[in-house]
Amino acid sequence: MKKVLIDLSKLRALDNCQMEAIDPHLLKGKTFKTIRELASFWFTCRRCQDAPCISVCPADALARDANGMINRALNLCIRCKSCITACPFGTLMNDLFAVKTEGYNYYDLNNEQELQQFADAYDDEVVRIVEFDAKPEENIYKLSEKVWIKDITWSDSIDN
Ligand code: SF4
Ligand code: SF4
Repeated sequence: MKKVLIDLSKLRALDNCQMEAIDPHLLKGKTFKTIRELASFWFTCRRCQDAPCISVCPADALARDANGMINRALNLCIRCKSCITACPFGTLMNDLFAVKTEGYNYYDLNNEQELQQFADAYDDEVVRIVEFDAKPEENIYKLSEKVWIKDITWSDSIDN
């Protein structure tokens, strides 16, 4: 089965990310979350015990879920970026929570054509189509059935 492999560190280094991807299977209720946001909280975030991102948030929009992962409530977030600044590990990208409308593309990665289009929109070293299994030994982890994320994680305790 084809999957999209996203090198999160390289994606993070891009100045202006004009393409986002979503995976409807990862939506909780009707919450719209991009792959970049989910991957950042799942793999890059160090899950600080005192979580400065949570304490600095003026809207109480950040909270831990049952797995200890940080979750952002879209209906509460006022996109002030305080959490991005407060995070000592650079987990969150500067444009991650911006409202993107005109000229912006969201790709549904459960659609084969859009999966390919999303991959084609980036250099291969950033996003590409692969057919191999997740390889934790190469820092390649499963985010969903269609999405592999390459990133240096802080913990080897992530269940893949
Ligand atoms: S951008 Fe502001 S309101 Fe939104 S989660 Fe971060 S700190 Fe909270
Ligand atoms: S401050 Fe950064 S690393 Fe720490 S819990 Fe928040 S997002 Fe994760």
